Amino acid sequence: MTTALDLSAGNANAPRVDAAVTPARLPGLIGLSREGIAEQLATIGVPDRQLRMRSNQLWRWMYGRGASDFAQMTDIAKELRATLGESFDIARPEIVAEQVSVDGTRKWLIRLPARDGQAPADVETVYIPEHDRGTLCISSQVGCTLTCTFCHTGTQKLVRNLTAGEILAQILIARDRLGDWPGGIRPTDAPVPDAERAISNVVLMGMGEPLYNFDHVKQAMLIASDGEGMSLSKRRITLSTSGVVPMIERAGAEIGVMLAISLHAVRDELRDVLVPINRKYPLEQLLEACRTYPGVSNARRITFEYVMLKGVNDSLEDARELVRLLKGIPAKINLIPFNPWPGTDYECSDWDTIEAFADVVNRAGYASPVRTPRGRDIMAACGQLKSASERVPAWKLREAAGEPRANA
Ligand code: SAH
Ligand code: SF4
Repeated sequence: MTTALDLSAGNANAPRVDAAVTPARLPGLIGLSREGIAEQLATIGVPDRQLRMRSNQLWRWMYGRGASDFAQMTDIAKELRATLGESFDIARPEIVAEQVSVDGTRKWLIRLPARDGQAPADVETVYIPEHDRGTLCISSQVGCTLTCTFCHTGTQKLVRNLTAGEILAQILIARDRLGDWPGGIRPTDAPVPDAERAISNVVLMGMGEPLYNFDHVKQAMLIASDGEGMSLSKRRITLSTSGVVPMIERAGAEIGVMLAISLHAVRDELRDVLVPINRKYPLEQLLEACRTYPGVSNARRITFEYVMLKGVNDSLEDARELVRLLKGIPAKINLIPFNPWPGTDYECSDWDTIEAFADVVNRAGYASPVRTPRGRDIMAACGQLKSASERVPAWKLREAAGEPRANA
């Protein structure tokens, strides 16, 4: 049975243009570098000689202990806490719906407030508990500019990129809800039984193409892996890309997390259709970028994701070609049973076909390649995410804000 907890007053999915014109929020500190925090502190008169110490102190509270209110920072003088609270925002965005799957997977719909003249937008984040790990699947964009034909997110036009703070907020919110702040501030209503594991891994496999929002993703992942904050190991963070070849090298050199490639086809003609970015960066270029990915080794393999589509890419010939193509690249192969969504024409390959395909892959030396679908009943599985947010044209926002039309 699926339980849905609707935390909002109205329709959780409705885009709300009105919220775009609510008064500007206080400047946010989540997502800033330590230097960025220090710069902000200088604006409220924190003396120069204290800036470093104070920004480190805030960093540890926000990212190490999960503070979402300056009042919780008990080793900061009361007056300064009050000034911080009047000047800056470290509150979480609102969770408007939470769903729990029969298999324990949780999906949150998070409402990101309006910013920089852009409308508010809703984004989805998924938590997948397993016996040996807990994986949080986060989004990097609302919608996607790409249109992979088997992906539900691909049917939602890009609404906007997420900021570094909004990417991080998904991890912070999940940790709050799961009571996952070791030694920190634990909410009393943490809903997860002790037997369930908290977040040990983060995957950028939610909505959007992370390498099309490079700077914000980079900043967020560097903060998430910072040893004085959330301390997530870079080896436990995986960035999945559809194949934005020119950014792959930079991802390795500047972010240094694990890489996953949405391969899905072993021939350009088919990949052109399934993953249309292939027309720009065909297989040969993509695989070359993988061969030279900074830091790639047998201990740090690249994951190749391959969605199993009935009668489309699931023949034994495809399996053999897959193995041949990846020769020489330190690789893991992840076969993903296709997760259906309303309106799709694709079907998931039959189980026998998946097993036969996996067998070829196994015999080539790749262990346990099939990914168990999780959270399908709440539309939380790979490729099922989509929110109702739509891009609001700039003129509508201006009009809502009471500004005249340019041509009026
Ligand atoms: N945009 C990035 C990351 C998000 S998608 C990317 O494309 O890599 C995470 C994974 O789910 C990708 O491998 C994607 O191709 C796959 N996926 C998309 N739709 C799917 C579906 N309906 N069923 C199974 N996997 C899907
Ligand atoms: Fe975008 Fe990834 Fe979906 Fe392709 S698979 S449409 S890149 S989210």
